[in-house]
Amino acid sequence: MLTLHGAGVGNGIAIGVAVVLSREQPDIPEYSIKKNQVDDESLRFSAAITAAKQGLVKIHQELPSDAPAEIASFIDAHLMMLEDPVLAEEPIRTIEQQLCNAEWALKCSADKLIAVFKSMKDSYLQSKSIDIVQVVDRVQDNLLGIQESGGRDFNQDLEGRIVVTNDLSPADTVLFRHRRMAAFLTNLGGPISHTAILARSLHIPAIVGLHGATRYLRTNDVLIVDGRSGVIIVNPDQRALAEYHEHQEEEIQLKRELATLKDKASVTKDGEPVTLLANIELPEELHEVKDVAAQGVGLYRTEYLFMNREPPPDEEEQYQAYSLVIKDIKGPVTIRTLDLGADKQVDGGRTESGKNITNPALGLRAVRLCLNEPGLFKPQLRAILRASNHGPVEIMIPMLSSVNELFQVLELIDQVKHELTKENQRFNPEIPIGGIIEVPAAAVTADLFAEHLDFLSIGTNDLIQYTLAIDRVDDDVNYLYDPLHPAVLRLIRSIIEAGEQANIPVSMCGEMAGDPLYTRLLLGLGLRVFSMEPFSLPEIKKTIRESDIASLKADTAKLLGISDPLTLRQQVEQMNRQE
Ligand code: PEP
Ligand code: MG
Repeated sequence: MLTLHGAGVGNGIAIGVAVVLSREQPDIPEYSIKKNQVDDESLRFSAAITAAKQGLVKIHQELPSDAPAEIASFIDAHLMMLEDPVLAEEPIRTIEQQLCNAEWALKCSADKLIAVFKSMKDSYLQSKSIDIVQVVDRVQDNLLGIQESGGRDFNQDLEGRIVVTNDLSPADTVLFRHRRMAAFLTNLGGPISHTAILARSLHIPAIVGLHGATRYLRTNDVLIVDGRSGVIIVNPDQRALAEYHEHQEEEIQLKRELATLKDKASVTKDGEPVTLLANIELPEELHEVKDVAAQGVGLYRTEYLFMNREPPPDEEEQYQAYSLVIKDIKGPVTIRTLDLGADKQVDGGRTESGKNITNPALGLRAVRLCLNEPGLFKPQLRAILRASNHGPVEIMIPMLSSVNELFQVLELIDQVKHELTKENQRFNPEIPIGGIIEVPAAAVTADLFAEHLDFLSIGTNDLIQYTLAIDRVDDDVNYLYDPLHPAVLRLIRSIIEAGEQANIPVSMCGEMAGDPLYTRLLLGLGLRVFSMEPFSLPEIKKTIRESDIASLKADTAKLLGISDPLTLRQQVEQMNRQE
């Protein structure tokens, strides 16, 4: 029985069987063959092509009858590529002429073909190079003997399985959830990455930053994954299994107890009301928003609509998606405009855009990307505005760093309103517009932003990342990620003050808002609107109901004067214990 430790990110415990998945590209061997080996090598190549075709035909035959037609045509397209002479015949000539092995011959032809597609001006045709890569990978897998049951097959059924892999993108996490994986473990990643946030929202027990996960764990190992403590027990004995089954029961019990708070008011002991909102990524989370009686949606991460698909959703599809949420939720819905980039790539970061971005978190992300691509941004703004006709909606802009960016966004929104008016489309002309304050520059100048906005929301996930200069997805520096760092606390306080002075609401939508460790501290700092994954809401409500604002204010003022991180943490914990 082996025990491993990492950073637990999803609450809950999973007990199940491991499946180790690898997306790493295997090394393609290159070696010479003798003339008398040419026939065998050519036959080996043809057999690999045939096996790849048979694999695709089998997937086609096993498609459920209600599977979307696009899936079948997608498979057909891959089958046709396997008939293409460049992939099916040219490598045989290379084997004969260059006396090289089949894998290398295939690589030479594939590289040429991929380069042709990548050089095309049309972005749709350019993106087709990914299909060629996928088809060629299938043939290479057969040549290299990489098994379909594990290897790099990210398409297999994962029901009840615990995925063990090097890293998982948010896009893959969504896909794997649909394939019903029970939990996941990754070598890389941090607890505030978008993948981790998604795991919490979707109740997937997960542990990241394990380093040796794919080295020590094997497909079919039985695992206990404790997402709370970050502990994994490999091939547990009966005692460990019984103990964790008991913990699972305790968790269910705790959840039941917290559920009794559903209809209780979110108000402190001394009568101060506190607004509790939900963060959502996917429509399937809506029922939970209602289950925990959230007073609205404080952060709708719209970029998830754009993942694992091609082409991106058009205005109409977005309008339908936003309207659905707005009609379903009683309170206001805060729709965050696209925050793509960094660790949230539409295809999980697999697109080879041809550009190697060294610091994607500092790159063309969120509002920067949107302003750079009005063709992407305008349809979204139109869709949100049109959806505002169905209920209370707010627009929230991510990653603002200068008011100049804000002015550009406001101008674009005005333009869109003008267009919609001309088209006789209905929308709320007074739609509130807010900004996420998550870049230190914006935090320091929050007063300037507050002058032009209807609300501010503190995005602590990025604010901490950028303030402390630590990549939130880099497990090597995650130990420095500290919401209690005095720099972070001072920034939070000054953003709240900027909101108070401008008389506009300030919420917090980063993970810090959903962690009961910080609830009293934040109340003491003056925060009155918390937005979090629905899962965390009942416990936060419990803490709020047990807190007394008057005494917290004095305690918090003292806390801000403490410079030693350990003492600060101890004081926060002590504040949390007070009756
Ligand atoms: C944040 O940065 O705190 C935030 C809420 O946005 P995201 O986690 O999606 O970057
Ligand atoms: Mg952010």
